[in-house]
Amino acid sequence: MGLTSWPQKVVLVEVGPRDGLQMEGTFVSTQDKIKLIRYLADAGLPVIQATAFVHPRKVPQMADAEELLAGLGSLPGTLLSALTLNQKGVERACRCKLDIIEVSISASDTHGIRNAGMDFRQALARLDSMVRTAIDCGRRVQASLQCTFGCVYDGPVAIKRVIEAVKAMVDAGADGITLADTTGMADPLQIKKVLEMVLKITGSIPLTLHLHDTRGLGMVNLLAGLEMGLTRFDTAFGGLGGCPFVPGAAGNVPTEDVVNFLSRLGIETGIDVRKVAQCTGRMAGILGHLPQGRLWRVLVPPMKS
Ligand code: ZN
Repeated sequence: MGLTSWPQKVVLVEVGPRDGLQMEGTFVSTQDKIKLIRYLADAGLPVIQATAFVHPRKVPQMADAEELLAGLGSLPGTLLSALTLNQKGVERACRCKLDIIEVSISASDTHGIRNAGMDFRQALARLDSMVRTAIDCGRRVQASLQCTFGCVYDGPVAIKRVIEAVKAMVDAGADGITLADTTGMADPLQIKKVLEMVLKITGSIPLTLHLHDTRGLGMVNLLAGLEMGLTRFDTAFGGLGGCPFVPGAAGNVPTEDVVNFLSRLGIETGIDVRKVAQCTGRMAGILGHLPQGRLWRVLVPPMKS
């Protein structure tokens, strides 16, 4: 496929405040999270996943979800989303000010049980009611499938299972669907094979890829998605991120690296790469370690100690 057939514009969904921070041992204060999200909105991120409504004991970093959203208010030009894994999470999200509720289930039984206390069948059985609740409270619903491309516990995920989950998401009335490579096990050929089948089901419902760079294939997987015509990707500033219930988990594809890559391909994102890099630099100070992304090190050289 030639350069000219690639999309002109791509939407990046910033998941750093949720997927990124949930892996961090240092608790980031609610005020610092609010500042971070405002910086990211100012950098031009059109959608920001701000938090998750999950059990505070399981993911302590997300314990301040309600307080965070109340403090944030609305951000002009940026839609706010939050992740939910069960009915209770959706109900909590419905009581808060946010635009998009992400309803997420895992394609893997073991990962699903560790992450949300439900295997694939149990989660799938609850999906419809979760989506319905979010729609009824007037929110856009993003349905997502974790471990789409494999699981560190259960191994390969059958494509049949992915198709079944995506069909259920379409039938439930989701506004958008995300396929997540939670464990970073995907490769470009698998991405293309899965997308080829899934795109036949999703029709006009926009499909997003959520990629982790655990095995160094994040960016080539993103390119495979682009070549299949996708125009939406989840990314995290600095390449932070990972699932606390996936051993060896590594970060998402870094927002600033992806913005730079896309701009080299002539694809617009509307995002100010320098501002995102500054954000990563500031967070490196708060977190006490250097995020794995590359470009921020060039644009905002970290201080040598
Ligand atoms: Zn993730």
